[in-house]
Amino acid sequence: MTAPTLPPHSGTTAPDAPGTPLAETLHSLVINWFDDNARDLPWRRPDAGAWGVMVSEFMLQQTPVSRVLPVYEQWLKRWPRPADLAKEAPGEAVRAWGRLGYPRRALRLHGAAVAITERHGGDVPTEHAQLLALPGIGEYTAAAVASFAYGQRHAVLDTNVRRVLARAVTGVQYPPNATTAAERRLARTLLPEDAPTAARWAAASMELGALVCTAKNEACHRCPIAEHCAWRLAGKPEHDGPPRRGQTYAGTDRQVRGKLLAVLRKAHAPVPQAVLDRVWHEPVQRARALDGLVADGLVEPLPGGMYRLPLT
Ligand code: SF4
Repeated sequence: MTAPTLPPHSGTTAPDAPGTPLAETLHSLVINWFDDNARDLPWRRPDAGAWGVMVSEFMLQQTPVSRVLPVYEQWLKRWPRPADLAKEAPGEAVRAWGRLGYPRRALRLHGAAVAITERHGGDVPTEHAQLLALPGIGEYTAAAVASFAYGQRHAVLDTNVRRVLARAVTGVQYPPNATTAAERRLARTLLPEDAPTAARWAAASMELGALVCTAKNEACHRCPIAEHCAWRLAGKPEHDGPPRRGQTYAGTDRQVRGKLLAVLRKAHAPVPQAVLDRVWHEPVQRARALDGLVADGLVEPLPGGMYRLPLT
């Protein structure tokens, strides 16, 4: 494996292998910090099981913990096993998704539950390749479930981990907009050798990004790796890469889709087009948003201009 290009680390050894002093230092500092500071989240408790971990990973991908918590609790209460969700219509998953946003995740989670029930006897599979073969599960989710639920050794690269590695190791303020091969190489290079430590490192580095090294306010004064952080040691040079993607919502098709889905989630019978037309003033954008929901399988059109959440 080619080692990534790394900045100087004030005389310390670059982390070009898991056993090098800096890599080991980062592991022990971040994991010790995690031991003292990890949030007590329901999907981290032993009774969450692999299904709880999988549900949380789907929900957390683009939504903050505070918004996920109530929906997660209700979801697991209603569907404690994949087979319980698989028995329901996909529209029920969309309804229970509430206002978490990006509701295609609900359909994907439902699809994964059906596949787990049909192919794996209702148990979330343990192998990374089997997880990756489930519908709606990408590299990140497969690695996260294998690592967090089964304690395996995988590079788990979410936005928080990518930001921590960008700053602490690569020495830049922000990672690229989309995950690159170089980032994957670096994450694999830094992975501790033994599986339990690797799984702990994955969770700990993610938590550091969520609580300390955040996108807007890095709290270096309480960061366990401040002394080794390449970006901090370089004087925190400003981001000079491509502009970062914004998260605008107001006035977008996403907002209109959210309003249309909110009406359909509340309804327990098909809804006429005229009722949906009231949610947004601009007819072209409204029609585009509704067409998009139908094309994504989130809304089912019925004869006579009626709509409902999907039954199949
Ligand atoms: S020292 Fe600051 S910038 Fe570096 S990893 Fe810690 S919080 Fe982030």
